Amino acid sequence: MGANCYICLQPIDYSLRSPDPWSFVIDETVPIARGGRVCHSNSGPAHRWCNGIKGTHTLEWARERVRQLLDENDGMAPVKPTSMGFTSSDW
Ligand SMILES: [Zn+2]
Repeated sequence: MGANCYICLQPIDYSLRSPDPWSFVIDETVPIARGGRVCHSNSGPAHRWCNGIKGTHTLEWARERVRQLLDENDGMAPVKPTSMGFTSSDW
């Protein structure tokens, strides 16, 4: 259920809420500041984290940048999803 992030292409947990970095946001492919318009062909589902990296850059730039950041962290994003919870070793 739900589409993958169109920047990093990973699944999105739609149960997460802002300001969680892995929560769902609609990203405008062409930033409004650059003359983009809000319509279906100019937006896509994205993680808040990926959307923040993209900023006012192009989609192509953002995909490359996200891939670099994930590679630098052995495939793990700098901030892990909070839904992973805590260890229960103390219980
Ligand atoms: Zn993403």
